[in-house]
Amino acid sequence: MIELEGVTRRFGATPVLHDVSLAVPEGSFTSILGPSGCGKSTTLRIMAGLDRPTEGRVRLNGADVTEATASERNVAMVFQSYALYPHMTVAENIALPLAMRQLSRLERLAGIGRLLPGSRPKRAAIQARMQEVAAMLGLEDMLGRKPAALSGGQKQRVAVGRALVRDPSIFLLDEPLSNLDARLRVQMRSELAALQARTGRAFVYVTHDQAEAMAMSDRVVVMMAGRIAQAGTPRDLYDRPATREVAAFVGAHPINLLEMRLGPHGACPLLPDLRVSGAESAQVTLGLRPEHLVPASAGLPARLDRVEYLGAETVVHARLDGGAALRALAPGDWAPPAPGAALTLAVEPERVHVFDAASGARMTAAAERAAA
Ligand code: ADP
Ligand code: MG
Repeated sequence: MIELEGVTRRFGATPVLHDVSLAVPEGSFTSILGPSGCGKSTTLRIMAGLDRPTEGRVRLNGADVTEATASERNVAMVFQSYALYPHMTVAENIALPLAMRQLSRLERLAGIGRLLPGSRPKRAAIQARMQEVAAMLGLEDMLGRKPAALSGGQKQRVAVGRALVRDPSIFLLDEPLSNLDARLRVQMRSELAALQARTGRAFVYVTHDQAEAMAMSDRVVVMMAGRIAQAGTPRDLYDRPATREVAAFVGAHPINLLEMRLGPHGACPLLPDLRVSGAESAQVTLGLRPEHLVPASAGLPARLDRVEYLGAETVVHARLDGGAALRALAPGDWAPPAPGAALTLAVEPERVHVFDAASGARMTAAAERAAA
């Protein structure tokens, strides 16, 4: 278990992390998700011991490791850039962390090292562990190759192998898939999730890609401008986003955000079925996900602007009678009317998100209360 307690990091006078507290339990797959520059890498580097907090503590399995170096913590880090040694083979790259720890400088020398008494059993043990890790990652057939002769996905596997070989208690991965093409990213994300399950170790996975975080994680920590905006299961984030910013960041299709003023008793002028409890004439932002806005025989009256046909589904660009543009989602086999034609969009009140317009914080809707 790794914990950050009230971690603040400033570079000179510039604050980058503000009072960040989070705990990654044993065996969990936790993602840190947020836009570029929000402080994800800084958070991970502080966990690894590659950077120090200005204030706050870092605990590893209960022990305070705030001042411990990276090599004193049994954590492994995998970077986006792979950081492989180009002159070494796959086998040597994977075995390197063990060779550095277990062999003396003399024993590591290619020629003489082998002749030294005592180095042979150590080398054999390192080779065996390297083979085991290579087999786990499907790299057995390329152990003699140099990194230049590998594809992006294979290089990434070697980088993971090098982290795996020491059997660290925690894996820290910083956007490890962002150099890969879209199809390979999707494949590698299930490989990494399977690897995490097999090793049973905690993974902390940094990404700006909400789909990656949602697909792989038990828990997602959403970070915005150096603060934790929300931490929860992928489902929590999607169903009950704590802020408007989280709602806009999470979800495959961008959420529709509509500004409006509630009437007496929290009545919503747009959706008669919705009542927001405890909000008298408040200025709010309504969040409607496209997938919860479906062309149907009854609902919000709108006009069709255009459609984007995606195969399995169709993105519907429409305009409300008041003029606001909305995205809705229809099945792939939906037959759209002509542009400019009227259509109605069905809304389930319990799927509507309501945020305070000024602070962006989530407000409780009556429909949600009834469901709880
Ligand atoms: P992310 O990984 O989410 O993209 P980072 O943690 O890399 O974000 O950076 C967060 C912010 O801290 C950025 O504005 C970045 O410019 C700044 N920053 C990171 N490292 C340093 C540093 N060594 N010196 C000064 N500013 C830094
Ligand atoms: Mg980063």
